[in-house]
Amino acid sequence: MDCIFCKIVNGEIPAEKIFEDEKFLAFLDINPNNPGHSLLIPKKHSDNLLATPEADLAELIGRVPKLARAIGQALDYTAYNFIVNNGHEAGQMVDHLHLHIIPRRAGDGLKLFENRKYAEGEMADVGEKIRKALVA
Ligand code: 5GP
Ligand code: ZN
Repeated sequence: MDCIFCKIVNGEIPAEKIFEDEKFLAFLDINPNNPGHSLLIPKKHSDNLLATPEADLAELIGRVPKLARAIGQALDYTAYNFIVNNGHEAGQMVDHLHLHIIPRRAGDGLKLFENRKYAEGEMADVGEKIRKALVA
């Protein structure tokens, strides 16, 4: 399979690796939102979050706190955005599950979300639709 992150796992292309264990690898994003912006990936290929077994996701998330604290401590950050883009329409460019660890500090100028407003009554409708889908 022609997957750039599998190639990083296999050592076929270089990456600035910061953490590795039997199942997971973390390395610096080549185009960081802030220096230290890292990607945590499972070594075993999975296209995206929805295609990944729950147990593997739990293990992936379990690796996040220690990594994030180390990034913060090493580079003097105080906060983080943890992001998974799932699907091309959501900005996923590499089809190998990866969790972005984006370290943040006050005044860094990053703007990740452009918030919208609900119309009158729309929030309740949206909530109802999702609750129905969850029990369907
Ligand atoms: P996505 O948009 O799929 O959530 O994020 C993919 C991320 O992977 C991007 O932030 C991009 O900068 C990073 N990326 C793409 N190719 C490479 C690469 O070859 N090496 C590294 N270190 N990061 C990459
Ligand atoms: Zn892959």
